[in-house]
Amino acid sequence: MEQRTFHVGNIRPPFHAASLLLQITENCTWNKCNFCTLYRGGQFKMRQLDEIKQDIDNAAYYRDLIVERMQNYDLQTVKKMGSGFASKLTRNEQLCYSIILNWIVADGMKTVFLQDANSIVIKKDILCEAVKYLKEKFPTVETVSCYGRADTLARLSSGDFRDLKAAGLNMLHSGYESGCDDVLALLNKGTTRQQQIDAGQRIKEAGITFNMFYMPGCGGRALSRRNAVETAEVANAIDPDFLRIRTFVVKSGAPMWDIAQGPDFEECSDMEKLHEIRTMIEHLDPKLSCYVISDHIINLLPLLEGHVNTDKQKMLDYIDTFLALPERQQREFQISRRMWTNHDYTEMDLIPDQYMQKIRDLVDQTPAGEEWEKLLRQYLRNYI
Ligand code: SF4
Repeated sequence: MEQRTFHVGNIRPPFHAASLLLQITENCTWNKCNFCTLYRGGQFKMRQLDEIKQDIDNAAYYRDLIVERMQNYDLQTVKKMGSGFASKLTRNEQLCYSIILNWIVADGMKTVFLQDANSIVIKKDILCEAVKYLKEKFPTVETVSCYGRADTLARLSSGDFRDLKAAGLNMLHSGYESGCDDVLALLNKGTTRQQQIDAGQRIKEAGITFNMFYMPGCGGRALSRRNAVETAEVANAIDPDFLRIRTFVVKSGAPMWDIAQGPDFEECSDMEKLHEIRTMIEHLDPKLSCYVISDHIINLLPLLEGHVNTDKQKMLDYIDTFLALPERQQREFQISRRMWTNHDYTEMDLIPDQYMQKIRDLVDQTPAGEEWEKLLRQYLRNYI
C-alpha cells in the first residue's frame, strides 16, 4: 500500500524551528562555497509540482486526522495514537504524524519553510502555484519562506517578486555572508555585492520580508575591516528587515580548512570577530529600520539585537561594556558561552558553582593566544 508521507530535509533557518518544513528542492544548486559542508555529495534536484502537491495533501491528511483526535482526546493520547505498532503507521508515516502534531501545537500552523538551500530557483510560475496550493490547503498559514542565493535572486525582476508575494511567499532568507567582493571570492561564494544589492532592493520593493545573513570573520584577519564596512554598505543600500549574525568558524572537512592551514588565510580570534561586528554596526546608516539580531548559539553575545534607527548606540554600548571588562572576566564568559551556556555576560552569577569551577580551571590552565583560540574553536565547531 502506498505510504502517506511528505519529504523533509535537515536544514532550516533558526527562525523556523517550529515551522512546517516542506521540501520542494533537494540540496544546493551551487554546492561550492568553500566554508560549507551542508549538502556536500548531494545532487541538486527540483521536485515536480505534482510531487509537491501530493506532499501538501499528505500533510493536510495528518492535520485533519490530528485535529479531529484533539477534539476527543488529550495531547498525550493523540501523540501515542500516532506511534508504535498500534498506530498501524509505517516509521516514515509516524514521523510525518509527529511533525504535523508538533507544528499544530508549537506553531499553530502559521509558518512554512520551503527547503532546501536555493528553492527560489524553481520556475516562478511553478513556485507560485505550489505556494498557492499550500495556502489553499492550509488557510491558517501566515508566513511562507525559503532560502535564495543572491545570484539566483538577482535574476528575478521586481514583478516576479510581486507575483511571488501575491501567491503567498512573503519571506526570503539569503546567506550574503559578506558585502565585500574580495571576501566573496575568497569564500568561492559565486555571488557579487552588486547582485546582493539588486536582489535585496527588489525583494524589499515587493514587500517581502528579507533576512540578510552576515558572517563576521569570514574574510580572515586581513579582510576583517573591509568585511565589516562593505557588508554595512550593502545593508545600507537595502535596509533588510533582519540582519542576522552568524559568526564564522573554519569547519574541518570544508575546503576552507586546508586554505586556513596555508599562508592565505589567518582566522580572526574570537574577540577580533566581535570587534568586526562592532565595526559593522558602527557603519550602519542610523536611519535604517533593519533589525540586527544575534540569534545563533555560535555568536558570542546573545543579547545583541535591536532596530538600527532606535537602538544602534545601545547595541554599541552593549559590546563596549563587554570589551571594557577585565580580561579574566571576558575569558570566563567566552569559555562558558562556547562550552554550553546560553547566558549573557551580565548573567554569569546564574551559572552553578560546579560549572563555574570548571570554567575557572580552564581559564587558569589555558594560556592566552593560540592555545586559547584553539580551545574556543574546538567547542565552536560543535555548533556548525
Ligand atoms: S549556497 Fe549555501 S548551501 Fe550552497 S554551498 Fe553555499 S553556503 Fe552551502
